[in-house]
Amino acid sequence: RMHNELQELKGNIRVYCRIRPFLPGQKGKQTIIEYVGENGELIVLNPTKQGKEGRRSFKFNKVYGPTATQAEVFVDTQQLIQSVLDGYNVCIFAYGQTGSGKTYTMTGPDNATEEEWGVNYRALNDLFRISQTRKTTFRYEISVQMVEIYNEQVRDLLSTDGPPKKYPSLLNSTSDVLKLMDIGLKNRAQSSTALNQRSSRSHSVVSIHARGIDLKSSSTLRGSLHLVDLAGSERVDRSEVTGDRLKEAQHINKSLSALGDVIFALAQKNSHVPYRNSKLTQVLQSSLGGQAKTLMFVQLNPDSDSFSESISTLKFAERVS
Ligand code: ADP
Ligand code: MG
Repeated sequence: RMHNELQELKGNIRVYCRIRPFLPGQKGKQTIIEYVGENGELIVLNPTKQGKEGRRSFKFNKVYGPTATQAEVFVDTQQLIQSVLDGYNVCIFAYGQTGSGKTYTMTGPDNATEEEWGVNYRALNDLFRISQTRKTTFRYEISVQMVEIYNEQVRDLLSTDGPPKKYPSLLNSTSDVLKLMDIGLKNRAQSSTALNQRSSRSHSVVSIHARGIDLKSSSTLRGSLHLVDLAGSERVDRSEVTGDRLKEAQHINKSLSALGDVIFALAQKNSHVPYRNSKLTQVLQSSLGGQAKTLMFVQLNPDSDSFSESISTLKFAERVS
């Protein structure tokens, strides 16, 4: 009881930082990671400064180093997933520059094995598993929607011809999930190749709705889970891009700062929360704030060449945590 109240006071926003490993092509690169602590401490090194001046420490709810597995990361996320079936709204984001591991954390690598599954699959798998264990008291209906937000426009990834579907697709099992997610990911990839890697410049949102019917009283509870793979947060040099690319960059900038402002306002318990400033925050409004629980994965590329992007990612995270 006491514990719950304390949680309530601290707010429902948590931030986990994850550092991806160096990739096979990156041998011999220098890392910016000096220290990853058990309790969420992180020390990064500025490659251009020596000694104490070149060290900066950060503190998060959790930090995962390069060797952390998908299963280890999910252990700390699982409780949030369970609360969806208790009627809570939960939002999980991955934030970071392109190539920092956002899609890896949320979905997994291409053609992932079960072991490599990201949060998306594991979460849905858990929703079915837990709903089975409650089947003598509740009957759950689980449905899913998948959209992409690009240049402030929302596109349905599950039905690409025509307007977004009014009703989400109902699911019965994890294999339904795999089929649907596959369709969504293919649709996202298709537009991406056609438009020069657009996927790193759009947000993708998987929305899961769970409706639980109490078998005894017939009352219902509703919970939702939004899983968001954000557009790359890298800053674009305005002197180098023009036209469509500049417009894209401005849209991404606007929506990521709108998201930061919303989470900041919630963390501060401000009475005014500026949801209306972007499509992203509008789409997520019902699942951010109030009783909702928010988790942000802050993704880092350990390469010292990415130091300044990593610092700006860490600063974003510091502001909202
Ligand atoms: P983003 O979505 O942020 O652009 P990706 O998730 O596509 O980044 O990751 C970039 C590359 O790094 C991919 O090849 C991905 O498989 C790999 N990668 C990312 N995180 C990890 C990890 N924790 N372990 C192994 N490989 C990873
Ligand atoms: Mg990605």
